Amino acid sequence: MSLAYSPSELHPDADINRFGNNPAQRFAQNLALVQTRIAEACARAGRAPGEVQLLPVTKTVPAAVLRHAFAAGIRDFGENKLQEARDKQAALSDLPIRWNVIGHLQTNKVKYLVRFASEFHALDSLRLAAELNRRLEALGRDLSVFIQVNTSGEDSKYGLPPEALPAFIERLADFPRLRPQGLMTLAILSGDPLRVRRCFALLRILRDAAQLRHPGITRLSMGMTSDFEIAIEEGADVVRVGQAIFGPRPRSAGAFWPGLDDV
Ligand SMILES: *Cc1c(COP(=O)(O)O)cnc(C)c1O
Repeated sequence: MSLAYSPSELHPDADINRFGNNPAQRFAQNLALVQTRIAEACARAGRAPGEVQLLPVTKTVPAAVLRHAFAAGIRDFGENKLQEARDKQAALSDLPIRWNVIGHLQTNKVKYLVRFASEFHALDSLRLAAELNRRLEALGRDLSVFIQVNTSGEDSKYGLPPEALPAFIERLADFPRLRPQGLMTLAILSGDPLRVRRCFALLRILRDAAQLRHPGITRLSMGMTSDFEIAIEEGADVVRVGQAIFGPRPRSAGAFWPGLDDV
């Protein structure tokens, strides 16, 4: 793997490296551009603009940079690693931020998540649901969750196989502290937009079927930098976008910001 620049060449202030010397302004511009693209995709799909929620994804972006993002108007942040989310939450606890955990969660990390997360987008097992419910119960709080479905059939992807979804949703009634909002997926990583679109279309079909029995299952969390417009055309309600807002991620974030795992 070759990187465009080596860590030793990096300016000590990560803001400068990634965002020029006026990061808040850069975010405002990037954000405006993404919002425009969302509005255009909505128009193409005959959907009302504003129907789609943008969830900015800040994994590997340092807490200091999130302050600038907050200054640019961002209030919801998506993080895919619990430890990283926790550290940033601690560093930014003076700001009224909503933390959305969007990546796979190990059961032993649940006790941390329930303390600060507003939403969890990657519910993919009953064991995890039970542990979340137990810990939430102890704190007397509820949590919005999205059920992650593997729509691409790739072994590398987390999520329930589509055929397991109906029974899974039935069982969620046992966990009253969880507020299921809808379904989440990651499309196949492919240069072929048709294959990507098929993943999103499948999630919509699964949602439509689930909603007949469970009216609360309404929202689709799908689409990221490389494919959010296709996702919107297929019915996304929440798009999780990182790099289009915060700039490209180094392939190995740990090389740049010690303490972060590879992404
Ligand atoms: C990183 C991530 C995203 C955003 O990816 P970008 O390419 O930065 O837009 C969306 N969803 C999940 C689950 C992620 O981990």
